[in-house]
Amino acid sequence: MEKNREKTEGQKKQEQLVYKKKNYFEQASEAERAKIFGYAEGYKEFLDAAKTEREACARSIEMAREKGFTEYAFGDPLKAGDKKYFVNRGKSIVVFRVGTKPLEEDGFRLIATHIDAPRVDIKQVPMYEDSGMCFLKTHYYGGIKKYQWTAIPLALHGAVMLKDGRKVELCIGEGEGDPVFYINDLLPHLGREQMAGAANKIIEGEQLNVVVGGLPYADEEVNDKIKLTVLSLLSEQYGICEEDFISAELCAVPAFRARDVGFDRALIGAYGHDDRVCSYPALTAVLDGESDHTVLAMLVDKEEIGSEGTTGIQCKVYEDLMEEIALALGANFRKVRAKSKCLSSDVTAAYDPNFPGVYEKLNSAVLSCGTAMCKFTGSGGKSGSNDATAEFVGEVRRMFDAEGVVWQTAELGKVDIGGGGTVAKYVAKLNIDTVDLGVPVISMHAPWELISKADLYSNYRAFLAFMK
Ligand code: MN
Ligand code: MN
Repeated sequence: MEKNREKTEGQKKQEQLVYKKKNYFEQASEAERAKIFGYAEGYKEFLDAAKTEREACARSIEMAREKGFTEYAFGDPLKAGDKKYFVNRGKSIVVFRVGTKPLEEDGFRLIATHIDAPRVDIKQVPMYEDSGMCFLKTHYYGGIKKYQWTAIPLALHGAVMLKDGRKVELCIGEGEGDPVFYINDLLPHLGREQMAGAANKIIEGEQLNVVVGGLPYADEEVNDKIKLTVLSLLSEQYGICEEDFISAELCAVPAFRARDVGFDRALIGAYGHDDRVCSYPALTAVLDGESDHTVLAMLVDKEEIGSEGTTGIQCKVYEDLMEEIALALGANFRKVRAKSKCLSSDVTAAYDPNFPGVYEKLNSAVLSCGTAMCKFTGSGGKSGSNDATAEFVGEVRRMFDAEGVVWQTAELGKVDIGGGGTVAKYVAKLNIDTVDLGVPVISMHAPWELISKADLYSNYRAFLAFMK
């Protein structure tokens, strides 16, 4: 019988010596497969509840409280066993557990992720009426293919600060009966010239105008009747007037929900996998997973525009937080951070057989082969990358292998094509060993992105192994 035959010398050598990516679904037992599929259900709920960084932060607070975590403020005392969360301006959150290991010798175990996602922001003076429609002008946020955001249902999310200092939070277009919003595209019949041009000119920034109304106000004496109808509704329902847009952060996001993709339901399509597919596992790993180490899951904002501002990871607040934790535990922060380790967890590009030209297959992440470690990111000659040391990569590799995590290594596309970077280099600056690790995504930054449930769960398993 073929299968009972003993392995040849060559076959044995091959098993020992050759590196091969493994499909996690194929490796998983039936029980583990059930866990992979079960974990995805909670993730999809999180995606639907958290389409903006504010909503992701709010949902994370709820989840942390449910698990007995309490809010931390600078100066609060801390002791081993404490379960805390720290909120930065309602747009970023750090959830942490204080471990039993001495901090100066053991350092922090950090998982850094982001909860902002590419989208279309509403301008500060956005509203006008033209040709039977009322529009809001927009300014896109993050790297998007602008043409992808036309002709799909959009929801409006965000916060408006009124003149009197009150804050109104909006979320319109997600409920069953809610209206949605829309960005126009040209019909193919008149699109010959449009389609012949460069794809980045098919729809230009100033054409990303969101349709928000079409009903004229019943008064012969006023101009811009549709705009007045919309403003009247906003005033009645939310107390908002046109000037209030000046102090607002409103954004249009796809009104789609997260859904299983494929006959076998192996994949998930959703808006904003980048980077919630890493932040949700980071959050749940720290909420669920006990650890002797002091572990922090950082869910930060503004990664998509360079990690800037008071809520991006370059802000001193995160360093201050780590220093305050060290101080509260009687440890020297310089010693602590020198011993700390970080997984900078952001998505990477999954190899797409429809576009083989831009990938180098040997070093690309393959869907369902597990969460992908990128020793370096950056572009061209590794410009702007963190480039983790071989020693640290080796250490993390041993952590994953010890826990049986199915994972892979990856690089984002061909050397001379494009590239990208994320938060790793800012954490590394603090003298903290850092390496990139994240879920491979198909159609990254599209209004609806695709991931594998196996890779999502692999990422969660990797974080648990890192905390062990
Ligand atoms: Mn990202
Ligand atoms: Mn991104």
